[in-house]
Amino acid sequence: MKCTACNTGQYEKKKIHYDFLGERIGIFDALVCSGCKETLFESAASDKIEAEVKRRGLWGLRARSKVSKVGNALDVRIPKSLADFLALKKGQEIVLEPIDKTRLQIVIA
Ligand SMILES: [Zn+2]
Repeated sequence: MKCTACNTGQYEKKKIHYDFLGERIGIFDALVCSGCKETLFESAASDKIEAEVKRRGLWGLRARSKVSKVGNALDVRIPKSLADFLALKKGQEIVLEPIDKTRLQIVIA
């Protein structure tokens, strides 16, 4: 089967490691392009990945939040599930680092 991403390589069946949020979820069947390394998981593997990610409580950590104003500064609310995942506590020091005009990285010091 020809790769739909680069149109030159061929997909090969491989077993690959799948990581999610820095955790090794497992080894799954995938199609990997011999050219550009584009990786596709077939539905059976995708279902297994989703089930395992959910079982570990890693699903749905990406959340929408709003910016509010506190004095002259702005405040961003971090949902509890995300705070728990990061073991982030009140009063903890963090480093705010802009990646570009639309992304802000928070590094837990
Ligand atoms: Zn390709």
